[in-house]
Amino acid sequence: MTDYIEFISKLLSEAEWASVSADGITYTVFALPYTQLDFPPEGYAFVDSYYVASNRAYFLRKELVKKLTDEGFETVECNLPYKSLAYHSGLGVPLRSTLIANKKFGTRMALEIIAVRGVYAKEVTVDDILKKPEMAAFCRTCGICESVCPRGCISAESFERNKCIRSVQESADLTDKDAAKAMGTQLWGCDICQRCCPFNSHLESREMTEEEKTLFNLDNLYNAFSSGKKGCEPYRDILGGNYLRPAKLTALTLNVMANSTDPEKYRKYAEESLNHNDIRVRTAAQRLTDKTTEN
Ligand code: SF4
Ligand code: SF4
Repeated sequence: MTDYIEFISKLLSEAEWASVSADGITYTVFALPYTQLDFPPEGYAFVDSYYVASNRAYFLRKELVKKLTDEGFETVECNLPYKSLAYHSGLGVPLRSTLIANKKFGTRMALEIIAVRGVYAKEVTVDDILKKPEMAAFCRTCGICESVCPRGCISAESFERNKCIRSVQESADLTDKDAAKAMGTQLWGCDICQRCCPFNSHLESREMTEEEKTLFNLDNLYNAFSSGKKGCEPYRDILGGNYLRPAKLTALTLNVMANSTDPEKYRKYAEESLNHNDIRVRTAAQRLTDKTTEN
Protein backbone atom coordinates (compact mmCIF):
# COMPACT_ATOMS: atom_id res chain seq x y z
CA MET A 1 0.00 0.00 0.00
CA THR A 2 1.09 3.59 -0.65
CA ASP A 3 3.00 5.16 2.22
CA TYR A 4 0.42 7.24 4.10
CA ILE A 5 2.70 10.10 5.10
CA GLU A 6 4.13 10.41 1.59
CA PHE A 7 0.64 10.36 0.10
CA ILE A 8 -0.82 12.91 2.50
CA SER A 9 2.15 15.26 2.14
CA LYS A 10 1.44 15.63 -1.59
CA LEU A 11 -2.23 16.38 -0.93
CA LEU A 12 -1.52 18.94 1.79
CA SER A 13 1.30 20.86 0.13
CA GLU A 14 -0.38 24.24 0.80
CA ALA A 15 -1.27 23.53 4.41
CA GLU A 16 0.57 23.16 7.68
CA TRP A 17 -0.10 19.66 8.97
CA ALA A 18 1.06 17.05 11.47
CA SER A 19 -0.01 13.54 12.45
CA VAL A 20 -0.34 11.53 15.64
CA SER A 21 -1.55 7.96 16.20
CA ALA A 22 -3.66 6.60 19.04
CA ASP A 23 -5.38 3.25 19.47
CA GLY A 24 -4.57 2.07 15.94
CA ILE A 25 -5.79 5.25 14.22
CA THR A 26 -3.69 8.02 12.71
CA TYR A 27 -5.05 11.56 13.00
CA THR A 28 -3.73 14.16 10.59
CA VAL A 29 -4.50 17.71 11.67
CA PHE A 30 -4.17 20.27 8.91
CA ALA A 31 -4.46 24.05 8.93
CA LEU A 32 -5.32 26.50 6.16
CA PRO A 33 -4.22 30.10 6.79
CA TYR A 34 -6.11 33.33 6.21
CA THR A 35 -5.27 37.01 6.28
CA GLN A 36 -7.57 38.90 8.62
CA LEU A 37 -9.35 42.10 7.58
CA ASP A 38 -8.51 45.43 9.18
CA PHE A 39 -11.17 46.71 11.53
CA PRO A 40 -13.88 48.16 9.24
CA PRO A 41 -14.34 51.87 8.53
CA GLU A 42 -17.61 53.67 9.38
CA GLY A 43 -20.60 52.26 7.49
CA TYR A 44 -19.25 48.72 7.24
CA ALA A 45 -19.48 45.60 9.39
CA PHE A 46 -16.63 43.32 10.38
CA VAL A 47 -16.93 39.80 9.02
CA ASP A 48 -14.15 37.50 10.16
CA SER A 49 -12.08 35.99 7.34
CA TYR A 50 -11.69 32.82 9.40
CA TYR A 51 -15.00 31.52 8.09
CA VAL A 52 -13.83 31.60 4.46
CA ALA A 53 -10.79 29.49 5.40
CA SER A 54 -12.96 27.20 7.49
CA ASN A 55 -15.25 26.62 4.54
CA ARG A 56 -12.25 25.82 2.30
CA ALA A 57 -10.81 23.45 4.91
CA TYR A 58 -14.14 21.64 5.19
CA PHE A 59 -14.29 20.98 1.44
CA LEU A 60 -10.58 20.07 1.29
CA ARG A 61 -11.18 17.50 4.01
CA LYS A 62 -14.01 15.93 2.01
CA GLU A 63 -11.79 15.77 -1.05
CA LEU A 64 -8.94 14.19 0.93
CA VAL A 65 -11.21 11.56 2.46
CA LYS A 66 -12.30 10.56 -1.05
CA LYS A 67 -8.74 10.40 -2.36
CA LEU A 68 -7.56 8.35 0.63
CA THR A 69 -10.49 5.94 0.26
CA ASP A 70 -9.78 5.57 -3.47
CA GLU A 71 -6.16 4.76 -2.57
CA GLY A 72 -7.27 1.96 -0.24
CA PHE A 73 -7.03 3.67 3.17
CA GLU A 74 -9.88 3.20 5.63
CA THR A 75 -10.97 6.61 6.86
CA VAL A 76 -12.86 6.83 10.15
CA GLU A 77 -14.75 9.48 12.09
CA CYS A 78 -12.69 11.50 14.55
CA ASN A 79 -14.31 11.63 17.99
CA LEU A 80 -11.36 13.10 19.87
CA PRO A 81 -10.92 16.81 20.72
CA TYR A 82 -9.22 18.42 17.74
CA LYS A 83 -7.32 21.02 19.73
CA SER A 84 -5.73 18.30 21.83
CA LEU A 85 -4.88 16.37 18.66
CA ALA A 86 -3.33 19.53 17.23
CA TYR A 87 -1.18 19.80 20.34
CA HIS A 88 -0.13 16.13 20.49
CA SER A 89 0.64 16.02 16.78
CA GLY A 90 2.92 19.06 17.19
CA LEU A 91 0.88 21.33 14.89
CA GLY A 92 0.45 24.01 17.51
CA VAL A 93 0.24 25.00 21.15
CA PRO A 94 -2.93 25.71 23.17
CA LEU A 95 -3.38 29.27 24.35
CA ARG A 96 -5.09 31.05 27.22
CA SER A 97 -7.70 32.22 24.68
CA THR A 98 -8.40 28.49 24.01
CA LEU A 99 -7.15 28.83 20.44
CA ILE A 100 -4.24 26.91 18.97
CA ALA A 101 -1.22 28.81 17.66
CA ASN A 102 1.07 27.50 14.97
CA LYS A 103 4.53 28.99 14.44
CA LYS A 104 3.84 30.02 10.84
CA PHE A 105 0.11 30.89 10.87
CA GLY A 106 -0.24 32.08 14.48
CA THR A 107 -3.92 31.64 15.36
CA ARG A 108 -4.96 32.72 11.84
CA MET A 109 -5.84 29.29 10.56
CA ALA A 110 -8.78 26.94 10.13
CA LEU A 111 -8.18 23.41 11.39
CA GLU A 112 -9.57 20.13 10.07
CA ILE A 113 -8.77 16.51 10.83
CA ILE A 114 -8.58 13.33 8.78
CA ALA A 115 -8.49 10.01 10.61
CA VAL A 116 -7.36 6.73 8.99
CA ARG A 117 -7.03 3.26 10.42
CA GLY A 118 -3.36 2.29 10.91
CA VAL A 119 -0.33 3.59 12.80
CA TYR A 120 1.66 6.00 10.64
CA ALA A 121 2.90 8.54 13.20
CA LYS A 122 4.22 8.75 16.74
CA GLU A 123 1.87 7.08 19.20
CA VAL A 124 0.18 8.54 22.26
CA THR A 125 -2.64 7.08 24.34
CA VAL A 126 -6.27 8.12 23.97
CA ASP A 127 -6.16 9.06 27.68
CA ASP A 128 -3.36 11.53 26.91
CA ILE A 129 -5.48 13.11 24.19
CA LEU A 130 -8.52 13.34 26.43
CA LYS A 131 -6.56 15.24 29.09
CA LYS A 132 -6.72 18.99 28.61
CA PRO A 133 -3.25 20.11 27.49
CA GLU A 134 -1.44 22.81 29.45
CA MET A 135 -1.56 26.28 27.92
CA ALA A 136 1.65 27.61 26.37
CA ALA A 137 4.18 28.81 28.96
CA PHE A 138 4.17 32.30 27.39
CA CYS A 139 0.44 32.68 28.10
CA ARG A 140 0.96 32.25 31.84
CA THR A 141 2.64 35.63 32.14
CA CYS A 142 1.06 37.43 29.15
CA GLY A 143 -2.69 37.71 29.77
CA ILE A 144 -3.26 40.47 27.15
CA CYS A 145 -6.31 38.71 25.69
CA GLU A 146 -7.85 38.48 29.14
CA SER A 147 -7.52 42.21 29.66
CA VAL A 148 -8.93 43.22 26.25
CA CYS A 149 -11.86 40.79 25.95
CA PRO A 150 -14.98 42.97 26.14
CA ARG A 151 -16.98 40.12 27.66
CA GLY A 152 -14.54 39.02 30.33
CA CYS A 153 -14.71 35.40 29.22
CA ILE A 154 -11.00 34.57 29.28
CA SER A 155 -9.05 33.64 32.38
CA ALA A 156 -6.08 31.41 33.16
CA GLU A 157 -8.43 28.83 34.65
CA SER A 158 -11.42 28.80 32.31
CA PHE A 159 -13.16 30.14 29.27
CA GLU A 160 -16.81 31.20 29.52
CA ARG A 161 -17.93 30.21 26.06
CA ASN A 162 -21.54 31.29 26.45
CA LYS A 163 -20.45 34.88 27.16
CA CYS A 164 -18.18 35.10 24.10
CA ILE A 165 -19.38 37.40 21.31
CA ARG A 166 -19.21 34.45 18.92
CA SER A 167 -21.81 32.60 21.02
CA VAL A 168 -24.02 35.71 21.10
CA GLN A 169 -23.77 35.91 17.31
CA GLU A 170 -24.62 32.21 16.99
CA SER A 171 -27.86 32.65 18.91
CA ALA A 172 -28.53 36.26 17.84
CA ASP A 173 -30.22 36.58 21.22
CA LEU A 174 -29.70 40.29 21.86
CA THR A 175 -31.77 40.58 25.01
CA ASP A 176 -28.61 41.01 27.10
CA LYS A 177 -27.89 44.70 26.43
CA ASP A 178 -24.25 44.47 27.51
CA ALA A 179 -23.64 41.60 25.11
CA ALA A 180 -25.44 43.42 22.27
CA LYS A 181 -23.31 46.51 22.86
CA ALA A 182 -20.05 44.53 23.20
CA MET A 183 -20.57 43.14 19.69
CA GLY A 184 -19.74 46.59 18.32
CA THR A 185 -19.71 46.55 14.53
CA GLN A 186 -18.71 42.90 14.43
CA LEU A 187 -21.40 41.14 12.46
CA TRP A 188 -19.82 37.71 12.32
CA GLY A 189 -16.80 36.71 14.36
CA CYS A 190 -14.89 38.61 17.00
CA ASP A 191 -11.21 39.12 16.48
CA ILE A 192 -10.35 41.22 19.52
CA CYS A 193 -8.38 38.59 21.44
CA GLN A 194 -6.51 37.50 18.31
CA ARG A 195 -5.55 40.99 17.10
CA CYS A 196 -3.54 41.64 20.23
CA CYS A 197 -2.06 38.16 20.65
CA PRO A 198 1.76 38.13 20.44
CA PHE A 199 1.54 34.80 18.58
CA ASN A 200 0.10 36.82 15.65
CA SER A 201 2.55 39.74 15.80
CA HIS A 202 4.34 38.58 12.62
CA LEU A 203 1.09 38.60 10.61
CA GLU A 204 -0.41 41.54 8.69
CA SER A 205 -4.09 42.31 8.25
CA ARG A 206 -5.53 43.72 5.02
CA GLU A 207 -8.07 46.25 3.75
CA MET A 208 -11.38 45.10 2.34
CA THR A 209 -11.47 44.48 -1.39
CA GLU A 210 -14.03 46.43 -3.45
CA GLU A 211 -16.19 43.32 -3.58
CA GLU A 212 -16.07 42.99 0.23
CA LYS A 213 -16.91 46.67 0.60
CA THR A 214 -20.07 46.08 -1.40
CA LEU A 215 -20.93 42.99 0.61
CA PHE A 216 -20.21 44.41 4.08
CA ASN A 217 -21.74 47.86 3.62
CA LEU A 218 -24.48 48.10 6.29
CA ASP A 219 -27.27 49.17 3.91
CA ASN A 220 -26.40 46.33 1.54
CA LEU A 221 -26.25 43.80 4.35
CA TYR A 222 -29.69 44.78 5.60
CA ASN A 223 -31.24 44.80 2.12
CA ALA A 224 -29.75 41.38 1.33
CA PHE A 225 -30.68 39.60 4.55
CA SER A 226 -34.11 41.16 4.97
CA SER A 227 -35.08 39.97 1.49
CA GLY A 228 -34.82 36.31 2.57
CA LYS A 229 -32.73 33.32 1.55
CA LYS A 230 -32.18 34.52 -2.00
CA GLY A 231 -30.59 37.71 -0.71
CA CYS A 232 -28.25 35.68 1.49
CA GLU A 233 -26.81 33.70 -1.47
CA PRO A 234 -23.80 36.02 -2.12
CA TYR A 235 -22.65 35.38 1.45
CA ARG A 236 -22.46 31.58 1.07
CA ASP A 237 -18.64 31.25 1.09
CA ILE A 238 -18.21 33.97 3.70
CA LEU A 239 -20.67 32.86 6.37
CA GLY A 240 -20.49 29.09 5.87
CA GLY A 241 -23.56 27.17 7.04
CA ASN A 242 -25.12 30.30 8.55
CA TYR A 243 -25.64 32.08 5.26
CA LEU A 244 -29.17 30.72 4.98
CA ARG A 245 -30.41 32.22 8.27
CA PRO A 246 -31.90 35.52 7.06
CA ALA A 247 -33.74 36.43 10.28
CA LYS A 248 -30.69 35.84 12.43
CA LEU A 249 -28.47 37.81 10.05
CA THR A 250 -31.01 40.64 9.84
CA ALA A 251 -31.07 40.87 13.65
CA LEU A 252 -27.26 40.98 13.81
CA THR A 253 -27.13 43.66 11.11
CA LEU A 254 -29.65 45.86 12.95
CA ASN A 255 -27.56 45.42 16.09
CA VAL A 256 -24.40 46.52 14.27
CA MET A 257 -26.32 49.58 13.04
CA ALA A 258 -27.31 50.35 16.65
CA ASN A 259 -23.62 50.17 17.60
CA SER A 260 -22.47 52.36 14.71
CA THR A 261 -21.53 56.00 15.24
CA ASP A 262 -24.65 57.16 13.35
CA PRO A 263 -27.66 54.96 14.27
CA GLU A 264 -30.02 57.69 13.03
CA LYS A 265 -28.90 56.94 9.48
CA TYR A 266 -30.47 53.49 9.79
CA ARG A 267 -33.72 54.47 11.54
CA LYS A 268 -35.89 53.43 8.57
CA TYR A 269 -34.63 49.84 8.83
CA ALA A 270 -35.57 49.72 12.50
CA GLU A 271 -39.05 51.06 11.73
CA GLU A 272 -39.75 48.45 9.07
CA SER A 273 -38.46 45.63 11.32
CA LEU A 274 -40.32 46.41 14.55
CA ASN A 275 -43.17 44.04 13.66
CA HIS A 276 -41.03 41.28 12.18
CA ASN A 277 -42.24 37.76 13.01
CA ASP A 278 -38.88 36.81 14.56
CA ILE A 279 -38.33 38.08 18.08
CA ARG A 280 -34.57 38.42 17.52
CA VAL A 281 -35.21 40.91 14.71
CA ARG A 282 -37.79 42.80 16.81
CA THR A 283 -35.35 43.00 19.75
CA ALA A 284 -32.56 44.36 17.54
CA ALA A 285 -34.95 46.80 15.81
CA GLN A 286 -36.09 48.09 19.21
CA ARG A 287 -32.47 48.54 20.31
CA LEU A 288 -31.71 50.49 17.13
CA THR A 289 -34.83 52.62 17.63
CA ASP A 290 -33.80 53.36 21.23
CA LYS A 291 -30.35 54.37 20.01
CA THR A 292 -31.79 56.85 17.49
CA THR A 293 -33.83 58.54 20.22
CA GLU A 294 -30.86 58.61 22.63
CA ASN A 295 -28.69 60.56 20.17
S1 SF4 B 1 -2.77 37.29 24.21
FE1 SF4 B 1 -1.14 36.45 25.50
S2 SF4 B 1 -2.20 35.17 27.02
FE2 SF4 B 1 -3.63 35.56 25.39
S3 SF4 B 1 -3.45 33.81 24.03
FE3 SF4 B 1 -2.08 35.39 23.23
S4 SF4 B 1 -0.09 34.98 24.18
FE4 SF4 B 1 -1.61 33.83 25.34
S1 SF4 C 1 -13.68 36.23 20.59
FE1 SF4 C 1 -14.10 38.28 21.49
S2 SF4 C 1 -15.60 37.92 23.12
FE2 SF4 C 1 -14.71 35.92 22.57
S3 SF4 C 1 -13.02 35.63 23.95
FE3 SF4 C 1 -12.13 36.64 22.17
S4 SF4 C 1 -12.26 38.84 22.63
FE4 SF4 C 1 -13.59 37.77 24.07
